[in-house]
Amino acid sequence: MKIVMLGAPGAGKGTQAKMIADKYQIPHISTGDIFRANISNGTELGKKAKTYMDQGLLVPDELVVDLVVDRVQQDDCKKGYILDGFPRTIPQAEALTEALKKLGEKVDFAINVEVPDENIVKRMSGRRACVSCGSTYHIVYNPTKVEGVCDKCGNELILREDDKPETVKKRLDVYHEQTQPLIEYYTNEGVLVEVDGTKDMKDVFSAIVDILGA
Ligand code: ADP
Ligand code: ADP
Ligand code: ZN
Repeated sequence: MKIVMLGAPGAGKGTQAKMIADKYQIPHISTGDIFRANISNGTELGKKAKTYMDQGLLVPDELVVDLVVDRVQQDDCKKGYILDGFPRTIPQAEALTEALKKLGEKVDFAINVEVPDENIVKRMSGRRACVSCGSTYHIVYNPTKVEGVCDKCGNELILREDDKPETVKKRLDVYHEQTQPLIEYYTNEGVLVEVDGTKDMKDVFSAIVDILGA
């Protein structure tokens, strides 16, 4: 099962993608997590990506497409995978479709998690992220057992630099301009499904499971 998660920044893509990956035993591939890992390891890719990410802009397509195309051909992706944060532009989606076509494959579901902009800023300022294992929490909607400490791995949580309100507004603009057109793209591919992302996390997840099948 090959799944693409669509939705605004903060819509809950990562939260749902992790639960889907656990249930269906497929890898969760988050390009944001890959970039953040590169930044903390001080790689060349990390250095390049950071200048864009800090401004709320997208990293150029050429820095992300090959990375994902390579990743989905690794052994653990044979039974499927869930892409979270990719594609984010029409050229990225086209590159993915082309690469999969060569392998005789296609995306099975593009899940659009719908959340209006009004809800997003509140969600983002409450988001806390673990840079070690990629888990995300929310100080109100999904708090950790011990404040500031990751339930999964015990490392310290941070408020992402790009989750501050000014940057979130920029990211929402970028989303509407560059990423939202993917809804139409995947509708035309015949694989788009939508869920109401304003509901409780568990309810969003059951709506997704209803679509994917148990
Ligand atoms: P969110 O979870 O809020 O949607 P991500 O963690 O997916 O954010 O992405 C953080 C940042 O990383 C983005 O704002 C962008 O700068 C960069 N990024 C992640 N994935 C991509 C991509 N597919 N194309 C371009 N930039 C990306
Ligand atoms: P994305 O990957 O789309 O950027 P996240 O999954 O990181 O979004 O979620 C953004 C923030 O909102 C996190 O703090 C997360 O805990 C919280 N969140 C996710 N889903 C919900 C939900 N259904 N209701 C309320 N808060 C949520
Ligand atoms: Zn952690």
